[in-house]
Amino acid sequence: MKKIALFLMISIIVFFPNESYGHQEDLNKLIFIVVNEQLIAFEDAYPEVKDGTTYIPIRFFAEAMGADVKWDNESNSVYITKDEGEIILDIPLKTLITDGGIIMTDCVYVKHNRIMAPFKVIAKCFGYDVSYIPAGPIARAKNNNARMVDEEVYFHFQDTMTKEKEKMILTIRNREKEEFRLRYKIAYITFDDGPSIYTERLLKILEQYHAKATFFMLADRITNYSEIVKKVAEEGNAIGLHGVTHDVKKIYRSPSILVSEMNACNDALQMVTGMKTTLIRVPYGSKPHMTEKFREAVLREGYKMWDWNVDSKDSEADYVSPAVILENVKEQVARRNVPIILLHERQSTVEALPKILEHLNQEGYILIPIDGEQKPYSFWKDMYER
Ligand SMILES: [Zn+2]
Repeated sequence: MKKIALFLMISIIVFFPNESYGHQEDLNKLIFIVVNEQLIAFEDAYPEVKDGTTYIPIRFFAEAMGADVKWDNESNSVYITKDEGEIILDIPLKTLITDGGIIMTDCVYVKHNRIMAPFKVIAKCFGYDVSYIPAGPIARAKNNNARMVDEEVYFHFQDTMTKEKEKMILTIRNREKEEFRLRYKIAYITFDDGPSIYTERLLKILEQYHAKATFFMLADRITNYSEIVKKVAEEGNAIGLHGVTHDVKKIYRSPSILVSEMNACNDALQMVTGMKTTLIRVPYGSKPHMTEKFREAVLREGYKMWDWNVDSKDSEADYVSPAVILENVKEQVARRNVPIILLHERQSTVEALPKILEHLNQEGYILIPIDGEQKPYSFWKDMYER
């Protein structure tokens, strides 16, 4: 068990949280598809080149050619028809069959819920010529309706492709992170109300256990402890916003005041680290204060509001015994799928942290920072459902 935990901890360092990902090959395989003068926008699954063959999500491509796509439940096959031609993609057999008598095995597969099939064979079957434009790169299908030559096509779509590529890379990265989170047992450690005189000690302990955490910080503290803020970020932890006043009577006076506290906190963060964040945690949690108007304001501003599902209760008194904090955490972690643990920057929490991390390690959890792109956990369950 210990060995597995260690292996997982090592893998987490490889995959997270530095922006260098293990799955670079997916990014290098990106290719654009143009049908005559139409650049196909693929929403969620992208064309890819495998062993010199370009595979495309079939639906988008067929639509661009003006072909009809029908799914047959009984045979688990896709029928693509255009004019007189027909292609059948047999999913269980991974086989492509054309009405011209071509049968190709091992060339149909499902990726991210999209059916992928070879570009060239399908284009040719419907009377298109196929060319490859290395700049881009672009695979182009063209017939008699084509107006531009290949060089023009590239220059025509150059800017669009740059933008599309950024979107594709982001989608692929987020998907990889999501897959990682589904594959492993993940827990999130969060520290509120810092940074403080305790932050450096928390960082040391986190490092000892190869754990990363998320720190929800207050504006004036960010400014006062700027060197520590930088260190928190440099060591691969996430930073979120916790506002300015931390005063219920002030921050919840109106939605615009709440948002402006978060924005001011974000400005302070940017001054120190050069970066802004979308992560916020509202003081005392989002229930009951964050009524609909407040939630709407937060959503409009693009903030991801995080609550917790494990309350260590480390701030219920001036000093809560570390043993009690540990017990609170253990007892609630056992009931959670993905524990999000609320801690505060306090003396007793520093003392409890090694035991908490030991326990989580023993239970096989990997501790990673919260990502600004992932769906937040909020006490208002449907807040991020749309
Ligand atoms: Zn707080």
